[in-house]
Amino acid sequence: MAIESRLPLAGKSAVVTGAGRGIGRSIALALAEAGADVAVTARTHSEIEQLAEQIQGMGKRSLFMPCDVTKPEQVEQMAKTFLAGLGGIDILVNNAGNAGSHKLLNHPDELWHRMLAINLTSVYYVSKAFLPPLIEQKWGRIITIASIASRVGGRYIAAYTAAKHGVLGLTRAMATELNPYNITVNAICPGYVDTPMTDASVSNIIARTAMPEVKARAALEQTSPQNRLMEPAEIAATVVFLALETSKGITGQAINIDGGGIMS
Ligand code: NDP
Repeated sequence: MAIESRLPLAGKSAVVTGAGRGIGRSIALALAEAGADVAVTARTHSEIEQLAEQIQGMGKRSLFMPCDVTKPEQVEQMAKTFLAGLGGIDILVNNAGNAGSHKLLNHPDELWHRMLAINLTSVYYVSKAFLPPLIEQKWGRIITIASIASRVGGRYIAAYTAAKHGVLGLTRAMATELNPYNITVNAICPGYVDTPMTDASVSNIIARTAMPEVKARAALEQTSPQNRLMEPAEIAATVVFLALETSKGITGQAINIDGGGIMS
């Protein structure tokens, strides 16, 4: 048997949202390394174009299409294009997300709605758009990148926390409803990960407190008992694991990757 066809995800097609950088980029590359064809989306054309070329260079099929996942018409168009180009879908990774913070006093409504749109409603739109072929073929994996903010409350991130808690509710509801179709639905809950989003959090701390950068970064590292930021590759490896045929019994779960900060 050729080595290629023995890769665990050979013959599978995957879609990754928010794939242009950070965790999503790492997930797309890990899925391709495991043998899947991977379609990638985000809003920044140049980042997903470069990633699709890199995946093609690995000998896998890849498509890219810019899409704002908070806009249902764009999501519908993206799903149509990817389904036609890939010839179907097996693995959907809802990774696109964004963090914003503000204390509760005078919390801007705009921030509330923006956080819910990108971190919660987008998962609903994207999952709904790809559901028909998954149900039809009676096999699928839906994996959403949630957060430890899905598990516990945190100061100054009420909207992000509410949205990420909501994503766990959606994950569990979808897992229950889709069990008869052999579609598993799971969430991964990382602590702080070394990505551009965390760089933005560091800049935010510096802007608000005038803390030196090393100290601001250390403050985020110290939120984990392992005193470090998680690496995107750790999240990506868990996505690949959940996508395996042998992970079929794992559904409706939320897996923490935070160095042991939360143990439930
Ligand atoms: P980054 O900011 O580094 O990357 C986010 C990706 O999502 C980019 O490709 C961005 O591309 C895309 N994206 C953002 N908004 C939209 C949108 N409206 N439509 C389509 N794509 C969008 O984030 P991370 O890699 O750090 O985070 C990825 C996921 O992991 C998020 O859901 C985040 O909440 C979660 N997470 C991250 C943690 C961390 O510490 N970094 C910790 C816990 C969870 P573009 O702007 O071009 O659209």
